[in-house]
Amino acid sequence: MRVLITGGAGFIGSHLADHLLRLGDEIWAVDDLSTGSIENIEHLKTNRLYHYQIGSIMDGPTIAELVDRCDVIFHLAAAVGVRLIIESPVRTIETNIRGTEIVLNLAAKKRKLVVLASTSEVYGKSNKVPFSEDDDLVIGPPVRGRWSYACSKAIDEFLGLAYWKEKKLPVIVVRFFNTVGPRQTGRYGMVLPTFVRQALAGEPITVFGDGTQSRCFGYVGDVVQALGKLVRTEAAVGQVFNIGNNDEVSINELAERVKKITGSHSPIVHKPYSKAYEEGFEDMPRRVPSVDKIHKLVGYRPRTSLNEIIRMVADFERARMARSGKSGNDTQIRWGAEPDESVEFESSSIPKAISPTGHA
Ligand code: NAD
Repeated sequence: MRVLITGGAGFIGSHLADHLLRLGDEIWAVDDLSTGSIENIEHLKTNRLYHYQIGSIMDGPTIAELVDRCDVIFHLAAAVGVRLIIESPVRTIETNIRGTEIVLNLAAKKRKLVVLASTSEVYGKSNKVPFSEDDDLVIGPPVRGRWSYACSKAIDEFLGLAYWKEKKLPVIVVRFFNTVGPRQTGRYGMVLPTFVRQALAGEPITVFGDGTQSRCFGYVGDVVQALGKLVRTEAAVGQVFNIGNNDEVSINELAERVKKITGSHSPIVHKPYSKAYEEGFEDMPRRVPSVDKIHKLVGYRPRTSLNEIIRMVADFERARMARSGKSGNDTQIRWGAEPDESVEFESSSIPKAISPTGHA
């Protein structure tokens, strides 16, 4: 298969490329490096079946060229991370809605299969346990900034399914529930890498709220295997799937486990949501997926335990800290990185990268 991954230098996108390359697929990745990193795909640069381009999904001609080359598009590029969404709401809405519109419109012209990345956030404040794909979405009010992410992703889902119904564009929607593993960054408010970094640096492990809220953490390696199967299963088209782990853990328990597994002496402290994010920030107490639907269709079951994941993330973060000589948290938000912000973008030094005109 020839596969385009938007957001290909991101956390899930880079693991997806690893997996699909193992299956023998050829990959084109596009990413503007706003939350992704060239470091995530460094190891892929020498693979002759891997090509990448630094660019934005908002750039129609670039995306058109890439869509042309591929059979399948995994549309993962998006504004991601609670902190980022609160701080850059315009960017969130525009990237997630207009970007998806551009991808779907171009894919429809060539009838290319599209997998749209959605999120468990679309279930919003619903207190149902577990969440099934056909459940109602209970979204909070627009004055609470965090809901813009859920709404933008819900609109993506509506749009994708509308393209399927009206234009017969094959579309599969996947709702990721907290997906974790090595390479995920804590910069934009992701809890596990943040706890691990704090624990390794001997800093306080900071739990937002009272910590009784619970989440289910799915291993990225399990998730990308499911994605690889879905695009090879015709019956998946026109459907929505939860992908995640249904093993629930409170955030207090997560902090305890991180502390124990890393052997850290960091204290566990609590910070009110109003200080962590904004006044009136709303969180949901539980978020558990039903994975029955995807299990029935492609046999997906979460296989990797949370303790194993924490160990892998800790090993990865230790190595990263050792390489960079740093020990603290990197909290800087970097939006819209220009290509020349990194020396690694010089196309002359990267023969495998696609040039701005689209030639390898
Ligand atoms: P990520 O931030 O690592 O990946 C997103 C990638 O998109 C980044 O590499 C970023 O640089 C890129 N990007 C953003 N705007 C872009 C643009 N305009 N043009 C090109 N590239 C752009 O996060 P992730 O966790 O890998 O998320 C991937 C997808 O999965 C996203 O759509 C996200 O909403 C969804 N998702 C992730 C989770 C999770 O727990 N990781 C949960 C729910 C949904």
